[in-house]
Amino acid sequence: MNSAGKAADTIAPIGASGSVEAALREREAYLQSILDTMPDGMVVIDAVGVIESFSAAAERLFGYSAGEVLGRNVSLLMPSPYREQHDSYLSRYLTTGEKRIIGSSRVVIGLRKDGSTFPMELSIGAAVTQSRSTFIGFVRDLTERQETQQRLHELQAELAHMSRFTAMGEMASTLAHELNQPLTAVATYLNGCRRLLERGGAVDSSVLLDGIERAVEQALRAGQIIRRLREFVSRGETERRTEHLPKLIEEASALALVGARESGVRVSFAFQPDSAFAVADKVQVQQVLLNLIRNAMEAMQATTRRDMIISTAPFNDSLVRISVTDTGSGIVPEILAQLFRPFVTTKSHGMGVGLSVSRTIIEAHGGRLWAEPNPGGGTIFAFTLPSVPAEEAPDAD
Ligand code: ADP
Repeated sequence: MNSAGKAADTIAPIGASGSVEAALREREAYLQSILDTMPDGMVVIDAVGVIESFSAAAERLFGYSAGEVLGRNVSLLMPSPYREQHDSYLSRYLTTGEKRIIGSSRVVIGLRKDGSTFPMELSIGAAVTQSRSTFIGFVRDLTERQETQQRLHELQAELAHMSRFTAMGEMASTLAHELNQPLTAVATYLNGCRRLLERGGAVDSSVLLDGIERAVEQALRAGQIIRRLREFVSRGETERRTEHLPKLIEEASALALVGARESGVRVSFAFQPDSAFAVADKVQVQQVLLNLIRNAMEAMQATTRRDMIISTAPFNDSLVRISVTDTGSGIVPEILAQLFRPFVTTKSHGMGVGLSVSRTIIEAHGGRLWAEPNPGGGTIFAFTLPSVPAEEAPDAD
């Protein structure tokens, strides 16, 4: 805003064009024209969240005209439960001066007038004087892939998953080949033992024992190979710490919605109290959520109702349950039994590794991942993570 103010100074110094009032009007018009051509949406609010200014780009992004939102609380541009938390963010900042989002930018979810949600990057600046506080939010729509390719690449690099998927695909096919050897050997040794027994008469038990021992050895080798695969998937920089789930979930869902403008999916959130914190490797759990949300969106392409609910709730004393519920096509019965096996897919472009990797990640965290039918039609994918009791939880960000 300062730079706009300075520019106005050079163009319309007060008093240069007649009355002070005319100069001020000219200045305001000049500022307005800058705001109107800015590609990012701009929303200015006062200390209690009331919208004071709503730029033309913001009108396009949110589907409201400025007249409809001026004087209303900015929380109407956010889905629940972020909407309910917003007032407390503002008052905390004003009383403690503690900066959480101010001065930095974050990927969050925006709510349009028609109820649809979209991913956006939000940067907030604060202008606080003794008499008045104003907050200025700049909103960049992340929906359009081309426009945001750069930013998306940065974020995806953070999530560094595609390379891991590809590497895992290659590794899995090598391992499948390697696994074949011990399994064939197990079958050969056991067949030999059976033939010995079938022959009847006196059986040399040492020969039989030898055959069984070798079969056991080979079965253990197969187990080791599988363990190696699991270690590979969950190895690396796993950094588990206490994570604030609403924040982790919001960022993951915003990323999952990138490029989904036409999908018409409505996302809503339902976070129960006492389920805000979990011990997790943020990047890995966001990877799981990305998989589940993208799957849910794809499953809803064939249906007219496209509602997705992402929720958290206490599961038991030590676990929190996170679920992604869709109103999609449901899981085709043919693959139900092997849903979590690698390379099981019904999609022409699918690799079929998303769910198996997701399950490995969640189990490595000490949780479980499963699917169940949504009573209202569609599917619920749910997983558990170790929870953090409220008394040990840090202050929410
Ligand atoms: P991919 O998405 O590459 O196929 P996944 O392992 O993530 O791999 O999913 C495996 C299969 O499980 C999908 O091809 C799809 O048939 C089914 N599936 C996953 N999620 C859903 C869902 N939410 N609704 C219906 N089917 C699903």
